[in-house]
Amino acid sequence: MSKYWSNIVKKLDPYVPGEQPKVDDLIKLNTNESPYGPSPEAIKVMIEQANSSLRLYPDPNADLLRETIAEYYGIAPEKVFVGNGSDEILAHTFQAFFQQDKPLLFPDISYSFYPVYCGLYKVDFVPVPLRDDFEIRIEDYKRENGGILFPNPNAPTGLILALDNIEAILRENRDSVVVVDEAYIDFGGESAIGLLHKYDNLLVIQTLSKSRSLAGLRVGFAVGHEGLIEALDRVKNSFNSYPLDRFAIFGAAAAIKDVEHFETITKQIINTRDKLTKSLTDLGFEVLPSMANFVFARNKDWDAGELSMALRQRKILVRHFKQPRIEQFLRITVGTDHECDQLLTALSEILKG
Ligand code: PMP
Repeated sequence: MSKYWSNIVKKLDPYVPGEQPKVDDLIKLNTNESPYGPSPEAIKVMIEQANSSLRLYPDPNADLLRETIAEYYGIAPEKVFVGNGSDEILAHTFQAFFQQDKPLLFPDISYSFYPVYCGLYKVDFVPVPLRDDFEIRIEDYKRENGGILFPNPNAPTGLILALDNIEAILRENRDSVVVVDEAYIDFGGESAIGLLHKYDNLLVIQTLSKSRSLAGLRVGFAVGHEGLIEALDRVKNSFNSYPLDRFAIFGAAAAIKDVEHFETITKQIINTRDKLTKSLTDLGFEVLPSMANFVFARNKDWDAGELSMALRQRKILVRHFKQPRIEQFLRITVGTDHECDQLLTALSEILKG
């Protein structure tokens, strides 16, 4: 704290990202990155971009990338917005849509960045409790609100809300923007992008950090009605005209085009996830049915904080949230088969005492 801080900075309660260790002999299952590298095509075009054209600013509208995403989903480029990670797009969303007199609604257990943005942008919010089984109860979203936001699949639970339920929320809330944060949709879920033609109040946000293995590049995108995209552009052009650098624009476009690489690695992760779920269950864990690249699991005989520390001593990082309702769960990113085997061996040793 310093006397120079503004009142808003004094009150901020910033997001704490998962640990990025400085040593590389750890098994990192704590921040939902991909265990596999990105498309080789993406790396190739980024290396090609390391040339004297870096003296120039990049395309402020990242048209190459917007057009590539539009083509991939069969929509108009005017329906696509790109940003420096989906976190940045979420931030713009708060300013573009959620600064309202009525409160924003999001599940009490969801992405822990949402309340942080509420603090930064002074957005009033109501956390809507998930059911005891951690499912979203759609009736709870039939109330006055200044916007609705939820991850699908939810994080950190991994549970998916079916498209007809999302549609019911959209139908009930024609006067609000409904944002579906699909950071983890590519691991078996069905995107709400298919509903765009029916609902001009729907904004779908995705990222290249997970299923395209590009967390280090920082690229996310949003798709929605032109009117919503224009609002995001207005915020972006009042904040930073060039959120995506030259490497990000070219690398991300190549990654979207490399459908074969994307399908191979997402299939592999789904396969490993399903095996990991079964093995953890065999070890006595309760594992929520995940549609993401992580699983959320608890063991009724073991304290999750202690388990996470015992794993850390064995050089395995997982994520533990000290938060009511979920403090006995561990969120475990799906790694390679080998990494998951090492995790399972470590866990069975720890459980044996
Ligand atoms: N939404 C959710 C639900 C997430 O878990 C994450 C990753 N922490 C993000 C958005 C942000 O992803 P990125 O900024 O890397 O695109």
